[in-house]
Formats: sequence, structure tokens, C-alpha cells
Amino acid sequence: MDRSFPTTLLDFQRRFPAEPACAAYLEAVRWPEGFVCPRCHVQAEPSLIATRSTLRQCGACRHQASLTAGTVMHRSKQPLQSWFWAAYLVTTHTPGMSAVQFQRQLGIGRYETAWNLLHKLRAAMVRPQRERIGGNRDDWRIEVDEGYVGGRTRGEGRGVTHKELVAVAVEVRERDKPRRKDGKRTRRDVIAGRLRLRHIPNRSRKTLEGFVQESVEPSSLVITDGWKNYDRLPKLGYRHEAQAIHGDPEVAEAWLPMCHIVISNLKSWLLGIHHGVSAKHLQAYLNEFVFRFNRRFYPMSTVHSVLGIAMRVGGPTYEGLYDGVWRHPGPGGRGGPAEATG
Ligand SMILES: [Zn+2]
Repeated sequence: MDRSFPTTLLDFQRRFPAEPACAAYLEAVRWPEGFVCPRCHVQAEPSLIATRSTLRQCGACRHQASLTAGTVMHRSKQPLQSWFWAAYLVTTHTPGMSAVQFQRQLGIGRYETAWNLLHKLRAAMVRPQRERIGGNRDDWRIEVDEGYVGGRTRGEGRGVTHKELVAVAVEVRERDKPRRKDGKRTRRDVIAGRLRLRHIPNRSRKTLEGFVQESVEPSSLVITDGWKNYDRLPKLGYRHEAQAIHGDPEVAEAWLPMCHIVISNLKSWLLGIHHGVSAKHLQAYLNEFVFRFNRRFYPMSTVHSVLGIAMRVGGPTYEGLYDGVWRHPGPGGRGGPAEATG
């Protein structure tokens, strides 16, 4: 069976016309060499169960294995087809989708269901134990900065925040050839590599050093503004260049150009697609933004990889999201149920 994921709508409809096709796909991805019973480890063609398309029954011990165990789809009442469509839409629809658009496109009855589904997919966009950026590339530097997102939302619904602080770390290198014909270099002559974002509560030393340490490999060259709370980065093993900017936005833009491009794109994305985002869920949207940003760098990484990731990572439950029990994974990929805070 073809284990690549469709890249066009037509191909998608041809490959996944109904539940059994989706289930067969999951089976092929899970057991590429053929079904192996998770209980008795006998390898044999399993029986299908007419009423439950997501189960396979072992011919030897009659154990019923779930095709969705350990995935974000597990115990979902939504059909597999909805999940497949969702994964397809959320990754190929370039600017991303709001829960409302999503609900309409998939014909999902309740807004909450669509919203929950999207959040589960977002959780799958961060690999656990994700690597840090930077490292051994001497020709790359890492710009680190903080910026505010949110603000100016009409309607001002419950939970809509005005300004939330986001820490940015982005790999940057110079273009080999300047864009301008006269050879003069401008702030646009930079190329971005991988990105990490973290919703942070403040600009304290502890917060910022924590962000750098979870996001950037030691020994990398880290460029920041002159904020004093970055000045001990060399003690943590980083090469560090700081520029005293004194709040002059033009100097700041020239010094940390990629951070400014990222923050400004992030702001318009949050406002344009999601019409403002509550502070509680901001990290999930940051994860989605990072996923999209980093993916443009690896054209081979298609929807298939998303579903592949989605099949390894457990997602939050709807209750967990609402009660704040679920913690959205940050740049290091560590998320999951938060410790009880009392
Ligand atoms: Zn068995």
C-alpha cells in the first residue's frame, strides 16, 4: 500500500473515500511489514471487525488491536476521515485556519468539536525532545529578542488579551549576494533558518536565560539588544553580541532584522486568522506558527509527516484545554498535563 499522503484534493478523495480506506492507511503506516499482534506478537493477516473499522483482530489470540492507540485520534468520536481532512487542511491551507472555517469545511456540528480537533493537531506539531537551533554552523547566528503580540481587537470577548510577551529565537545568515544591484547590503539581505517561539511572562533574567537554554545550542553566536538580563549568556556557554539600542526602533530593526520580520508576521497572522487569541492558548498558536515557518524550509515534509507526528503524540482532551490542565508544549517540546497548581 502507498504510504505517502495525498498532495492534491483529487488524490485525497480517491485515496480516502470512506472510513475503511482511512483505517487501512493507518494499518499500513503502523505495521509497514504487516500486522503484528501487540499482545502475542504473532504476525498474520488480522480479521476486520465490521462494526468497528479502527480495530484489527489477531487470528491467533483474538486480541483486538486499535489502529488509533497512542495517536491524537484515539477515543475520538469523529470519523477518521474528519481527522485526515483536518490534517490535510491545516497543513496545506497556507495561512492556517480558524475553528469557524474548519467547522464549516468539515461539516462538524459543534464549534467546540472543531476547536478541540484543531488544538489536538497543534499539539502534534511539536515533536517531543525537539532539537535546539544553532549549534555547529559557524556561518549562522541566532537573533534573540522579545516582542508584544495582541492588542486592538474589536468586540473584546472574554479572555481576549491586549499585550502578551513572546520570546523569539531565529537562525540567520547573510545572503551570498546582496539583493540590490549596486551591491549595497540592506537589512533584507538575510535568510532565516529555523525558528523557536515561547510565550513568556516577563523579561526577567531567569525567564530569558531559560528560553535561550531550551531553544539554542550552547556555543552558538547569540545576538541580542542591550537588555541587561542577557549579559550573562557567555557564562552559560554562548558567544554573545549585544547592541545598546536605547529604544530606537530603526536601530533595533537594523540590528535584529529577522526577529522584527517574524514578530510583525506573527502579529498579523494572529489578528488576521484568529482575530486575537487568549493568553491561555497563545503557546499553541505560536507552535503552529513555528511549524509553518520551519516547514517552508523542508519541502519534503508533507502532510504525511504531520500525520506521522500526530500518530506518536498524545493530545489534550477538550476538558484539559478548558480547565487549563493541559500545558501547550513550548520550544523544547515539553508539554502535556501540567502539575497540579492548587
Ligand atoms: Zn495475538
